[in-house]
Amino acid sequence: MSDPDHEALYAAELAAFDGTDLEQVQPFAAITAVLQQVIDGAWWPAGNVEVRRTRADAGASSTRCAASAAGGRATISLAAPQMTVATAAHELAHVLAGPGRGHDAMYRRAYLDTVRVMTNIDPTDRRMGLHVDQLSSAFSAAGLGVGERSWPAPAEGTGSAFAL
Ligand SMILES: [Zn+2]
Repeated sequence: MSDPDHEALYAAELAAFDGTDLEQVQPFAAITAVLQQVIDGAWWPAGNVEVRRTRADAGASSTRCAASAAGGRATISLAAPQMTVATAAHELAHVLAGPGRGHDAMYRRAYLDTVRVMTNIDPTDRRMGLHVDQLSSAFSAAGLGVGERSWPAPAEGTGSAFAL
């Protein structure tokens, strides 16, 4: 699949989240729990998603974008070294944007939405727009545009401090 935005997206992701706890490796159960709350929540518009862990020795590049759809069911595969909120949000955004989008403008909109919801799902630790803003700024700095969503805007943590 042609995906010219691949490298730029990864660079923007690193610029946005490196040094934050979104890049901290966590237990599979913790990451799965956050993902499941989003998928089971009122906002999630993209159907069932299966989350599973891959073998520990799976290569980084193959697991980083491991969201796939088969038989109408999306699967996210996470490898131990990448068991982070950032990776989970990245993969969930592939499911939200739909297959064949690569890391295009629509994908990037989906990514901003999954980051927003995932970083505001814990009522005791809402980040509001912090991480969405970090990612949005990194996209802008890299000249990566963001498309219009074809799904409902997430209600959780939309806040009033900034508008997207
Ligand atoms: Zn990806």
